[in-house]
Amino acid sequence: MTPASPQRPAFHEFLARHRHFLLTTHVNPDGDGLGSEVALALWLQAQGKTVRVLNDSVVPTAYVFLTQDQQMEVFEPELAEQRFADADALIVLDTSNRQRIGRLSPLLDRHAIPVAVVDHHVSHAHGFGHVNVIEPEASATGEILYDLIREAGGTLTPAIAEALYIALMTDTGSFRFSNTDSHAHRMAAELLALGLDPQRLHAQVHSHASAARLRFFGEVLSGLELHDGGRVVVLEAGPEQFQRHGLQGSDTEGLVDMPRNIAGVDAVALFSEVEPGKVKVSLRSTGRVAIDQVCSRLGGGGHIHAAGVLLRGTRAEARARIVPEVERLIAELPAATDGLASSAHAGAAPDAAARPGARARGGAA
Ligand code: AMP
Ligand code: MN
Ligand code: MN
Repeated sequence: MTPASPQRPAFHEFLARHRHFLLTTHVNPDGDGLGSEVALALWLQAQGKTVRVLNDSVVPTAYVFLTQDQQMEVFEPELAEQRFADADALIVLDTSNRQRIGRLSPLLDRHAIPVAVVDHHVSHAHGFGHVNVIEPEASATGEILYDLIREAGGTLTPAIAEALYIALMTDTGSFRFSNTDSHAHRMAAELLALGLDPQRLHAQVHSHASAARLRFFGEVLSGLELHDGGRVVVLEAGPEQFQRHGLQGSDTEGLVDMPRNIAGVDAVALFSEVEPGKVKVSLRSTGRVAIDQVCSRLGGGGHIHAAGVLLRGTRAEARARIVPEVERLIAELPAATDGLASSAHAGAAPDAAARPGARARGGAA
C-alpha cells in the first residue's frame, strides 16, 4: 500500500463540492494519463457529475480503444476557452508540473478555476493545484485513483477496471519494472477478478507497431554508442530519420528501454531531434543511479529511474549537457560490493515511479 497523501480527504471534498469537471493530463499522453482520465470520468459521471476531457495532444492509436465511450477533446484555442469557462473545477492527472499540460497551462492564468492534481511523479512533488494528491511511491496515477475510488465506497465497473488496469499495466512495463510491488499485483488481481481479459488488453496496447517504426529502431540501435567503459549508452535520432520513416516524436516510445539489457549498463540516454533545433532527451537508469535531477535541473523531470527534458539547440549541445552529468553520478557511486551491482536491472517505467525501496532492491543488491 502506498502511504496515503494527507490531501486525500481534501480531494474527496473537492469532488463533492463541484459538479462540472474538466480533466486533463500531460502532453503526449500515455496509458496512465489516459486510463486515469477515463476511469475518473466514468466514476464522476456515475455520481451524476458532468465531465469533459481536454488534452494538449491527440490520443495515440494504441489507446483509442480505451476512449471509445469517452469523448477526448484536443486543444483548440476557442474550445479550450469554452471548456474552462463551463467547468467548476479542473483535475490534472499524471503530472504535477504545470508546463506539462502544454497549451492548457496559460489558461490557468486567465480563469480562476479551482485545480486538483493527482500524480505520482517525484519532480514538482508540491504540485500546482489547490489540492495536490501526489504519491511518488505509487506505481501509476491509476493506482492512486483505485485507492481513492475504493476509499470513497465507489463501484469499480468493468469499464473503470479496464481503464485502471491499462494505467497500471503500462506504467509498470507490464508488471516488470522496479515500481511493481504487492499493492500493484493485488490491484491487478482485483481488477482481473471483475472479468478483464489481460491478454486482450495487452495486445490492444502493444500490437500497433509499423514496419517503418521497427526499421527506424533498427537504424537508431545500430548507431548505439557505449561510453564510460560501457556504463552509459547513447542513442541519437535526427530529423531526417523521423521524416524518412514517416514517424513522430511519440514513435520512440520503448526505444530507450532496449539497451538496458546490455550487461554492465547503468544509464541510457536517447537524444531525439524530431524537428531541427528541438531535442527530446529520454534518460533511463538501470537502478544504481538516480537520474531525475539531471533532467529537472534543466527544466524537465520524471522519476528516479526514468526522466526526460526538452532542450533547444543541437544534439551535440544536448549531449554535452547530459552525458557528463550522468557520468559524474556514476563516478560518485560507492564501489560495487559484488559483481552483480553494475549489471543490476531494476528497470524503470517510461512513466513510472521508482520507489526508494525499489531503488535499494534494484541497486546495490
Ligand atoms: P520519456 O523519456 O518521455 O518516456 O519520459 C520519462 C519520464 O520523464 C516520464 O515520467 C515523463 O513524464 C518524464 N518527462 C519526460 N519529458 C519530460 C519533460 N520535458 N518535463 C518533465 N518531465 C518529463
Ligand atoms: Mn504515470
Ligand atoms: Mn504519464
